[in-house]
Amino acid sequence: YSKKNGKNQYNFYQNGMEGVSENHLRMEQDLHHAIVNNEFKLYYQPQVDTLKGHMYGVEALIRWQHPKLGMLTPFHFIDIAEETNLIIPIGEWIVREACRQGKEWHDSGLMLQVSINISPKQFQSNQLVDLIADALEESGFDPSCLIIEITEAIAMSQIEKTVDTMYRLKKLGVRISIDDFGTGHSSLSYLTELPIDALKIPREFVQNLGTETNNAIVHTIITLANNLNLKLVAEGVEHLEQLQLLQEMGCSYIQGYLFSRPILKEDVQLFTLDKQPLS
Ligand code: C2E
Ligand code: MG
Ligand code: MG
Ligand code: MG
Repeated sequence: YSKKNGKNQYNFYQNGMEGVSENHLRMEQDLHHAIVNNEFKLYYQPQVDTLKGHMYGVEALIRWQHPKLGMLTPFHFIDIAEETNLIIPIGEWIVREACRQGKEWHDSGLMLQVSINISPKQFQSNQLVDLIADALEESGFDPSCLIIEITEAIAMSQIEKTVDTMYRLKKLGVRISIDDFGTGHSSLSYLTELPIDALKIPREFVQNLGTETNNAIVHTIITLANNLNLKLVAEGVEHLEQLQLLQEMGCSYIQGYLFSRPILKEDVQLFTLDKQPLS
């Protein structure tokens, strides 16, 4: 292995398709080991209700403690996991672990919502609904506190099956959120017919706040969410000015480095807004 400077990318051979596929093959083998050896870890990023001034939820984000390469973010392995179907067993672990952890927090008096990201293959797999039902039952976690995050691309593919899966999920009592809303190519009229509960404003839009076009886009998303009665969460909020603009525009659920990076479960319990920049 060689870590490429800065970007933390690595490959075995610097050039050529051969190197790339060798790299993928090795990565695939490593992923198999990782599943057996429990090398994955969920980190949790606090989500803040800026009106009430408290953390109301967390988003579970996977990390891989690779034995040689150190801590890897999804960028380094999620696509390979998806291509090789290894996302199915990894995703199963994520669902069960997130529910177990959510229940543990609730039992300790920390009533958090827990959001999990579901990949396209995992969403289209026939086991997803049963898996989530089973994980909820096994853990005893309150279904209404489990948020399933999917992308627009998922929502817009295999439409009939997707809608059916969504309704079956809703029947379990969980909630559905569209991640990175506005970055995909979805049909608005179709989206309004889906049983979704929330939209997430993507980091890209938050980071470009201040420019006229971008403000207009964010404003449009906020208006849409209000009109459709959807909860709205802005992600990737790093600066106080972004927070203030979002609040002025009517978005008060915030996630981003301004409040916290993704942290370990132990640190979630210690997270406090006391010294945080709330207006
Ligand atoms: P996402 O679901 O849109 O998650 C938000 C990403 O933005 C996370 O990156 C988070 O660490 C990062 N982020 C949050 N706030 C800030 C900020 O203020 N500034 C900056 N620069 N970044 C911020 P992460 O953890 O690397 O995850 C990247 C993507 O990988 C996620 O995007 C999601 O699509 C996918 N992913 C993460 N965890 C899982 C998982 O458990 N299962 C699946 N299927 N996909 C996952
Ligand atoms: Mg997400
Ligand atoms: Mg997102
Ligand atoms: Mg994203």
